Amino acid sequence: MIYLDNNATTPLLPEVRAAMEPFWDTCYGNASSAHALGRKARKAIEDARQLIAHYLGAEPDEVIFTSGATEANNLAVFGLPRGVGGICCSRIEHPSVWEAVQALTQRGYWWREVPVNPDGVVETSACENLNEEIKLACLMLANNETGAVQPVPEFAELCQRRNIPLHCDAVQAIGKIPVHFHQLGVTSLSLSGHKLHGPKGVGALLVRRDTPFRGLFRGGHQERGRRPGTEPVPLIVGLAKAVELAHRQQETRRQRVLELRQRFLDGLRQSCAPIFLNGPEAGGLPNTVNVSFPGCRAEVLLMRLDLAGIACSAGSACSSGSLLPSPVLQAMGLPAERLHSAIRFSLSHLNTDQEIAQAVKVIAGIVRELRELSQEDDPSALSEFSHRS
Ligand code: PMP
Repeated sequence: MIYLDNNATTPLLPEVRAAMEPFWDTCYGNASSAHALGRKARKAIEDARQLIAHYLGAEPDEVIFTSGATEANNLAVFGLPRGVGGICCSRIEHPSVWEAVQALTQRGYWWREVPVNPDGVVETSACENLNEEIKLACLMLANNETGAVQPVPEFAELCQRRNIPLHCDAVQAIGKIPVHFHQLGVTSLSLSGHKLHGPKGVGALLVRRDTPFRGLFRGGHQERGRRPGTEPVPLIVGLAKAVELAHRQQETRRQRVLELRQRFLDGLRQSCAPIFLNGPEAGGLPNTVNVSFPGCRAEVLLMRLDLAGIACSAGSACSSGSLLPSPVLQAMGLPAERLHSAIRFSLSHLNTDQEIAQAVKVIAGIVRELRELSQEDDPSALSEFSHRS
């Protein structure tokens, strides 16, 4: 299997597994217990909190551990607004933000849309006239489908001037581009272990000190009452290790992945023309390549690639299985043929040169075959695209 679906999830690194090991095994205490095993678990959690705060530019008491980013995003969307009013975000937010915002609209809030340009970057200039009626703004740091990096610092400045809390989903950015919570200027920020070669089922929400914030759960004092429930110590230790490694290796990983991405994209352009890159050519996440192959149906191509041993995704993993076109690509205004033939490849520093070369070869063969079939059905299907790839 050639794994090119790292925005869906990443393989666990051996160093992360090793760091977690003792906490499955011998150090199994409940971090709330007063005895030695409990104290050991508590120390492991507090050390993890400090590490994460250090590497992400936050204070330890700003870190709230969660079950992942879906929970962290929900906590932010439901926990930050003070009073009923507008919620400002674009259509490219992940469903764990978008659907939470939609749920608020059932409770008297309204949605204020931020437009998106054809490269998948939000146009914050359209938000100059935000006022205090807006109770929350959300802007992800990098999009999971296109890799487009968003102008978060600029938007944060705009929100700060109007006292609007801004939540940032940084799930796909951490480990790929520099992320510094305080320098970004946002109110809250979410992350997830399994997107950065850490374990599944753990993440965190960073919330600025002194921000009024109401958690969703009741029934415990853990995480200072903001997220009650017995802490999964091994997962939290694994999350901290993954963040540490991502930070330390960021530049070498980035260089390596950029090189692989360029080779992959050049290979596809040479052997699968016409293709269209959905998202920015440069300046986005170094690992993400979202490409439309006119003349191919994304779901058929995906299935054929799977059978040939290549793991990738159509749209986002959360919407795969659905035949509806991706809302993210729709928001970018892509024409129907590009929407229905878009595949997301997401690489990691663990991919090899041989894998990339082999993937290009296999993709080219399958794309050629599918196009020949669609030409038989409709001889004019590709001619519209043949002059501009
Ligand atoms: N936000 C983004 C941008 C994501 O890509 C994902 C994962 N698909 C999530 C949030 C949800 O993360 P988790 O799997 O930890 O719930």
